[in-house]
Amino acid sequence: MTRAAVNNQQFSPYTGRFAPTPSGPLHFGSIVTALASFLQARSQQGLWLVRLDDLDTLRVKHGASDNILRTLQLLSLEWDGSVLYQSNRHAAYQDALESLFNQDLLYRCDCPRKETRGQTYPGTCRNRNVPLCHQASLRMRTGNTRIGFTDHIQGEYVRNLEQDIGDFIVQRADDIYGYALTVVIDDDFQGVTEIIRGADLLASTPEQLWVHQHLGLTAPVYGHVPVATDAHGKKLSKHDAALNALLLADPAELLIQALQFLGQSTDPGLAGADTATVIQQAIKNWDLSRVPKVPTIPKMTTV
Ligand SMILES: [Zn+2]
Repeated sequence: MTRAAVNNQQFSPYTGRFAPTPSGPLHFGSIVTALASFLQARSQQGLWLVRLDDLDTLRVKHGASDNILRTLQLLSLEWDGSVLYQSNRHAAYQDALESLFNQDLLYRCDCPRKETRGQTYPGTCRNRNVPLCHQASLRMRTGNTRIGFTDHIQGEYVRNLEQDIGDFIVQRADDIYGYALTVVIDDDFQGVTEIIRGADLLASTPEQLWVHQHLGLTAPVYGHVPVATDAHGKKLSKHDAALNALLLADPAELLIQALQFLGQSTDPGLAGADTATVIQQAIKNWDLSRVPKVPTIPKMTTV
């Protein structure tokens, strides 16, 4: 659904979204994120969109997109409009890169990925003019600027882009567009007003605000929900057999566990209810201020 379509339908201005990568089935943490963004939208009579981040061909698994959509349906998380597949959006990303390039904000970098990943990039290639014949990524120049925002769950968050993050990748050497670019372009395209997503993406938000700023786009507001971890503090990333069994046998119970993870009150009378009933009550009772204000929470129960 495009911004124009949203306006034409005279919906509430609130637009939220869930934008998973179809690298496999949803795990408990991604179900929590989907549910939180859904409830935040529906409790304000807003739109809730689904977008599939299927750009990274190395990570995308065949059939995972359909599997994710089926899971959302099983959980009665019904989305508005048609699903947006980011693999159809190359022209928009290319236009954005051109705009940044024309502002002299991009340069080519041929530093090996394994040397720079997860660290502040020191600007090694800023003034090197890496030749076009070399395979290179495109980085966006940052400034010695503090970028901050008030997260609706985690509170104030401020970073100095140059010192804490460094110039960041907007297109990888294998031509895959960077998350900081694509998420900004597509949230703007879809008219998203608030992004509710996992706290593992909190640290990358200042990069996205920097892209918004330089493309002259209005930034949405953000709320980062705690990430579900295992008992050792490691992010859950697998859809395990226990989760699959519960999803198929009792999806309403899975919703109740996700609501409890999000600090929401759940009525004991809901035991045995169907997913539509659980969701209706969850929309009525949704209280974002009850979501724990921490980046991670271990998921202690069996699922
Ligand atoms: Zn470099």
